Amino acid sequence: MNVPFFRYEFDPEALAAIEECLRSGWLTTGPKTKEFEKRFAEAVSNGETIHAVAVNSCTAALHLALEAVGVKRGDLVVVPTMTFAATAEVVRYFDAIPVFVDADPVTLSLSTLHLEEVMKTIADGGKVPGPVTRGRRLRAVIPVHYGGRPCDLGKVNVLAARYGCDVIEDAAHAFPAAFSENGSLKKIGGGTSRITCFSFYANKTITTGEGGMATTTEPLLAERMRLMSLHGMDRDPWNRYAKSGTWDYRLVAPGFKYNLTDIASAIGLSQLEKAERFRAARQAIAERYDRFFADLEEIETPPRSDDVVDAHHLYVIKLRPAAMAIDRARFIEEMRARGVVCSVHWRPLHMHPYYVETYGYAPGDYPQAAAAWERIVSLPLFPSMTEEEIEVVITAVQEVVRRFRSKGR
Ligand SMILES: *Cc1c(COP(=O)(O)O)cnc(C)c1O
Repeated sequence: MNVPFFRYEFDPEALAAIEECLRSGWLTTGPKTKEFEKRFAEAVSNGETIHAVAVNSCTAALHLALEAVGVKRGDLVVVPTMTFAATAEVVRYFDAIPVFVDADPVTLSLSTLHLEEVMKTIADGGKVPGPVTRGRRLRAVIPVHYGGRPCDLGKVNVLAARYGCDVIEDAAHAFPAAFSENGSLKKIGGGTSRITCFSFYANKTITTGEGGMATTTEPLLAERMRLMSLHGMDRDPWNRYAKSGTWDYRLVAPGFKYNLTDIASAIGLSQLEKAERFRAARQAIAERYDRFFADLEEIETPPRSDDVVDAHHLYVIKLRPAAMAIDRARFIEEMRARGVVCSVHWRPLHMHPYYVETYGYAPGDYPQAAAAWERIVSLPLFPSMTEEEIEVVITAVQEVVRRFRSKGR
């Protein structure tokens, strides 16, 4: 039996919603998208009114978010090195400069200790690894909730306030997720930073095939992102083509083409209703993995805490190199030989050719991320996993670990 890394669960309600959309004759951004935005905003709200802007990817949401808070050429934007390409590439879209921060060795989200050190060094005109930061303005920081577990946003927000920059969350993994603050739960995206960006890519916790959402409590930021998501037109086509709409519009900025289609939003609405069920299913599988792997000293399981609601997008184990006779690449091969497809999230950005060539990074510039990269393996984790598939994964991990433990221990 083969277990894929991810499998989309066929959703008959989504199919019905797509059909309704096709029959309505309105395919692009329109009523379904408006409804998806409204419902998503309600789903992440912590009481305040949330403005949600639907776009065609999380990458687009991040780009629009940086534009809305005023990132300009030459500005500095702090980004974890342990993240996906999108988090830093959007900074480069402005010819602004990503400044990397190391990973927390346990959670693999950004280390707030290192964040503080980097921010202080920049403020003092000192030298950080990579780009020259002296004389440049620190404009924003983009924390990532690694694997769906909320990072220490409280600390990130405090540091950002101290050093006068904005926080934009890359919450591509973190819907639905929450953390406890002063005894109550705060949902990610409900005003947890100036703008929170979500992904509905095919294998994310909810999907529209391709898609994303930016949420904020600030109407002006939402308005700017909406404007820039559609060519910088001062009214969107839904209003233009509605009966009450007008044929005329004005271009007020050179915008982008990032709007989400109603076909995608129809899928999104259906997924949104299932989001809590999906999360519970992911959590149940993650808890089983935790239980079965607890006695395997050769691997470290993901951190757990009652202070967070984890979206469980990923299940990442860390191999203990001294305890294993094989490396991570061989571990993945051995899993594959037992029918289990694994993945790795991610090679740190400072170890990719583009960033090495552009800013001159060495792997040791971010020692925690570089060390974690050698050890991490993402196991299959998706709501439609069958009982048999879960058992195949557990057995494969147990077998590979037992067979390849270091001798002489
Ligand atoms: C998937 C992902 C993105 C990009 O999402 P898209 O919707 O594909 O643009 C951004 N950041 C992280 C951390 C991701 O995992």
